[in-house]
Amino acid sequence: MAFDVRSLPTVETPCVLVDADVMESNIERMQSSMQRSGVGLRPHAKTHKSRRVGRLQVDGGAVGLTVATIGEAEVFADAGIRDLFIAYPVWATPAKAARLCALHERIDLLVGVDSVEGATQLGSQVRGGASRRMRVAIEIDSGERRTGVEIDGAVAVADAAVAAGLEVVGVFTHGGHSYQDPSLVGPAALDEVRVLTGAAAALAAGGHDVEVLSAGSTPTAERSAHGGVTEERPGTYVFGDRQQYHLGSVEADELALVVAATVVSAARGRFVLDAGAKILAKDRPAFLEGFGCLPDHPGSTIVRVYDHHGVVETPGPVPAVGTIVAVVPNHVCPVVNLGPGLTILRGGSVVEDWSVDTQHRF
Ligand code: PLP
Repeated sequence: MAFDVRSLPTVETPCVLVDADVMESNIERMQSSMQRSGVGLRPHAKTHKSRRVGRLQVDGGAVGLTVATIGEAEVFADAGIRDLFIAYPVWATPAKAARLCALHERIDLLVGVDSVEGATQLGSQVRGGASRRMRVAIEIDSGERRTGVEIDGAVAVADAAVAAGLEVVGVFTHGGHSYQDPSLVGPAALDEVRVLTGAAAALAAGGHDVEVLSAGSTPTAERSAHGGVTEERPGTYVFGDRQQYHLGSVEADELALVVAATVVSAARGRFVLDAGAKILAKDRPAFLEGFGCLPDHPGSTIVRVYDHHGVVETPGPVPAVGTIVAVVPNHVCPVVNLGPGLTILRGGSVVEDWSVDTQHRF
């Protein structure tokens, strides 16, 4: 892998190490891939939650960023990012509507909706608070069964949005069912293209021409960037993680982030790390054993995590207490959110500490 896990820098653990060269090459590779497909890249910033990383993505050619919360949008707008999509069906309370209006006045803002009620609420709450109509995109379910309407429900949401004074500019979907199993990545990408083009056609027939067809997840991004899709929103690609490696989205040498942890206790066939659920998180896909992978200890498994303990069972040699080891986390997004910040390495040495800027920003 990209990290020389045998010669990690001496750092205070647990901490989150990012190889800046690998991260930058991940940013460039996805950008070039989208450019070759003629599709815009709008990375999801919930993975890195960092103004610095968001800036690198936009300066590298991204059309803007995707976020999940109004708070994230506020932080990136303050950082000078002018084009933000809250790809989430926001329920606009008066307080949230006021914040949306303030954002709408200073940047190009796009907001997700996926119900008649949500669109009506958003329109009624922002009315009078904004100098131009707020732009919305309707979420379509491509198979994840999380949020989003079926294709045949899109027109009703669009009608309600227009009646409430909103401007319907697009449709979006997240092929998150690609995460269930590596064999589902290809079909999920096809589902994304199918529902976006189907919904756009249904909307056109219903009198709503939309210009944005926004797909996106890291596993599907490169496979659904065709057929009328106008932009992709992968997020996790920026660092990669164990789950993405097993789904085939990243190679081992594209993993840009590890958690550095110290062995604090050891027994026969077992050792304990100072990294537990409060930094590794508890995400564990059905197709993976354990709560992360230790590349330098093949065959070992993080069998249990407590708040501050990660219990590793190994068939190999047990490292001495005090040894610093690298853990490739299962799912990098919560790790960045939970960790103390990003410790940036170049050439194996620590060069800077970058803050995680949108922690607790909802
Ligand atoms: N778009 C939406 C709506 C999402 O929920 C997510 C992730 O959850 C993404 C894009 C980014 O996908 P990934 O985490 O696979 O990169």
